[in-house]
Amino acid sequence: MFTKEELDEIKKSINIVEFIGRYVNLQKAGSSYRGLCPFHSDNDPSFYVHPQRGFFHCFGCGEKGDIITFYQKIENLSFSEAVKRLADYAGIPIEVDTAESEYDRYTAILSRLATIYNRELRENNHDILKYLEEKRKITPNTISEFQLGYSPDERTFPQSLQSKLRADEKSLLQFGVLLRRGTSFKDRFAGRLMIPIDNESGRVVGFGGRIMVADQGPKYMNSSESKYFQKNRLLFNLSRAKAAIKQLNYVVIAEGYFDV
Ligand SMILES: [Zn+2]
Repeated sequence: MFTKEELDEIKKSINIVEFIGRYVNLQKAGSSYRGLCPFHSDNDPSFYVHPQRGFFHCFGCGEKGDIITFYQKIENLSFSEAVKRLADYAGIPIEVDTAESEYDRYTAILSRLATIYNRELRENNHDILKYLEEKRKITPNTISEFQLGYSPDERTFPQSLQSKLRADEKSLLQFGVLLRRGTSFKDRFAGRLMIPIDNESGRVVGFGGRIMVADQGPKYMNSSESKYFQKNRLLFNLSRAKAAIKQLNYVVIAEGYFDV
């Protein structure tokens, strides 16, 4: 499935201490790094990462392996999913000879959906655009960089999505893009200002939707939780901010999308 060269290249391109350090607070200990094991209840740091050898080992519970094993265990992923995401993270294109993975299909559909919502906002919903620019002081540049959008509250809109997204009904229902309403479909975000939420690799994995007319439901609504969209594992805007975070060595965390 993956060649040894591909796997080696991925492992070589990712700094294992930095990567595991996103999950475990690591302290330097000789030529290794040490921290509390994320795989068992650990009080006395027994989890070691060895950057030269590219692997981790826990003396408490015996877990060990390379960065792929670590990622699989901590995120509960299959081997090929872990490899694909790590390649994505490292910016290494890998050939997958099997059909497009579900993750690829999901993120491609959501990314096209973000473009459609963005176009709806810019071309057909000038009152919402005016609200963003005048009330929220959001510039057209920010709108396009964050691909802010609008989901029109029109019955024809959800029906048009199948062809616009080049996806079948089954996938759109499965991925939570459409909801079934009797014999027709509904966009769960109808009438909402749309904020695409991407993961650390910059792939759109969900949306936040802000209501624009009071009393029409909760102020904010998000895509439903799925394998690829787990809100408590995502930090909005991290994909854009991570280079600056590394450079400055600090992070400013804000509560809401607009605060960000
Ligand atoms: Zn352990």
